[in-house]
Amino acid sequence: MPQLPGLLKGLGVTARTAARTLFPKRGMRTLIPAPQQGSVTVQYPHEKEAPPDRARGVIALHEENCTACMLCSRSCPDWCIYIEGHKVKAPPRRAGGKARTVNMVDRFDIDYALCMYCGICVDVCPFDALFWTPEYEYSEPNIADLLHDRIRLGEWMETVPEFQAYEQGSEQKVRAVPDFGPDDMAPVRKLGADAESDGARRLASGHGS
Ligand code: SF4
Ligand code: SF4
Repeated sequence: MPQLPGLLKGLGVTARTAARTLFPKRGMRTLIPAPQQGSVTVQYPHEKEAPPDRARGVIALHEENCTACMLCSRSCPDWCIYIEGHKVKAPPRRAGGKARTVNMVDRFDIDYALCMYCGICVDVCPFDALFWTPEYEYSEPNIADLLHDRIRLGEWMETVPEFQAYEQGSEQKVRAVPDFGPDDMAPVRKLGADAESDGARRLASGHGS
């Protein structure tokens, strides 16, 4: 029964929290419970908390910056971003230059019934087209309505908070990317060459699969 001590410890924590909630003022010395005073639960929707500015509430789309490159859609672990676009000719940047081809967004949907709020799409977007906003009140009685199209995603832009300076010392948390020189990569290249010759040997001997 190795789990039993952990189970008892967990029950003890639960009992202490329940006692603190029921008798917040003087512990169990007064036996008149006052759970409203001790409760840390917010009675939503009657009471509302203001989430922190950087809370991951909903994703907003700044469509003018989006090039329909699909990077966010391909990086999304839940496959819940749907993008369609078409190409148009645009005038050259400089006089005498070649006409450019640019992508226009026709469809940009995020299905919040599938989204797990990991933030990968916001992080990978190379053109600053996606932003988090702390808004969270968009529950729907019909699950299909959790699919936000580009108009709705664009409307969320009004709720994106102003940029805030990073906390002091945050830059120290960035891990340095190792700089692989030609000598450092030699063992990796050898491993690749070994695997290649091993595969060729197996194919030649008829054991390729
Ligand atoms: S937050 Fe994560 S799960 Fe949600 S749309 Fe972006 S990448 Fe997909
Ligand atoms: S939102 Fe960003 S990553 Fe996604 S398609 Fe548009 S430009 Fe590419």
